[in-house]
Amino acid sequence: MRIGLVQVTQETSSFNPTLTTLADFESFGIYEGDEILERLPSAGLVGGYLAGVRASGVEVETVSIVRGAARSGGRLSADAFRFFDDKVRVGLQQAGKLDGLVMLLHGAAAAEEIDDVEGALLRTARKVVGPSLPVAMMLDHHANVTQEMIDHCDIIVGFRTQPHDQFETAQALTEHAVQLFAGKIAPTTAWRKLRMLTHQEQYLTSGGPMKILFDRARQMENDPRVLTVSPFPMQCWLDADEGGWAMIVVTDDDQELAETFAEELAELAWSMRNEFQRTESVPVDQAVVAADQADGLVILSDTGDSVLGGSGGDSTVLLEAILRLGIRGRALIPMIDPVSASRLVQAGEGATVTLELGGRSAPFFSPLTVTGVVRAIAGGVLELTDHAETEIDMGHTVAFEVGPVTLLVTEYAGVAGIHPAVYRHVGIEPADFQMIVMKTASNFQYMAPLTSIMIRAATPGPTQSDIAALPWQRIPRPCFPMEALTSWRG
Ligand SMILES: [Zn+2]
Repeated sequence: MRIGLVQVTQETSSFNPTLTTLADFESFGIYEGDEILERLPSAGLVGGYLAGVRASGVEVETVSIVRGAARSGGRLSADAFRFFDDKVRVGLQQAGKLDGLVMLLHGAAAAEEIDDVEGALLRTARKVVGPSLPVAMMLDHHANVTQEMIDHCDIIVGFRTQPHDQFETAQALTEHAVQLFAGKIAPTTAWRKLRMLTHQEQYLTSGGPMKILFDRARQMENDPRVLTVSPFPMQCWLDADEGGWAMIVVTDDDQELAETFAEELAELAWSMRNEFQRTESVPVDQAVVAADQADGLVILSDTGDSVLGGSGGDSTVLLEAILRLGIRGRALIPMIDPVSASRLVQAGEGATVTLELGGRSAPFFSPLTVTGVVRAIAGGVLELTDHAETEIDMGHTVAFEVGPVTLLVTEYAGVAGIHPAVYRHVGIEPADFQMIVMKTASNFQYMAPLTSIMIRAATPGPTQSDIAALPWQRIPRPCFPMEALTSWRG
């Protein structure tokens, strides 16, 4: 069996005006052809795909086409989109006869002038492979599922957990794909689109309403007629013309059952809409004081500047509050700021520098003038053994001390400071601090060995929890929670 393989993943926040460029993809490695399988044999989506192939017991020749993954951010530049679109077209034209195509995509990527990057890539692929070649697609659970995706795919599988089970989902998708390509199953899809967006604070699948929803999806999969069930609580900062939550149920040739289950899931999600909108975040000053007084290391979640949700990672809101409030402990803050990183590298280790730090990526933020000491400078490339991206490039990387705060100033996003290894790389031990600002609302798993205390700060930004206050222009209206609706159908 010959399978074509493509991975293009990025998650867009429409409220971050900074474009995601090819250089952003390159900082995680853009691979082509056999290089993809050689570089990523056991991690992330490609590793999961290979595990799925092995588990299927079928002899598969993988025709690897292109693999690009960027950190969440603003829309893809037109150049970045064209690059991947061309690779998909030319790669498939040169692939020879295939039995099927596996597309490992995100589902919430937008580009300049394009709201639905995945739909556009699938359209390009379809033009080459024709209407009858089976296509299997994996999506992030923050995907914004569109009609074009449904039209061009035979089976869609979404992540089952938040934080995401990338490897396991890619493996599960691939096992279904091999069966589909061998003609052993007849995937039959029903889907429901909801006029509903909810913020990130209730996105963890380990508790609350999201657990109830995902547990029900898993339960449905126990029915032998069901192939896969995927709720998609969409990326809530993507302002796209088909925006909204979605539910997908795929059965083995049973349309009626698929429709029944998809309807039930839509109703279940809608019935919990107010629970999904419950916030835990507290005002900025209150969050900082509470973190300082806590008995042990605190993760301070910068909800408005979540890099993993698409923000730029250079908000100075928490930094300003920490310096103004005069905390007793020490604080660690990651800051993605290429201009400052380069300036600090030039100044050199030991130098005292005054500069305008951060605040450039989005109009929600403003730079803060600070004076500090350059403690350490390191090269940006780092290997991570326990992360989906095994090698990341942070570019210029500097430990910069400003009073009670140690800043990790980097040129590129890398993993946005969610992993202790990025600090240890420059000689900073995260366990030595009272609080660590984290640019995520969900991905605390790598810090779990250090602490379990987490406080959400209600900060403004492209990923703020108050989504109703954002300047929406493209999503279909009316939409919950911007409008009070009585049905998910709108
Ligand atoms: Zn996601």
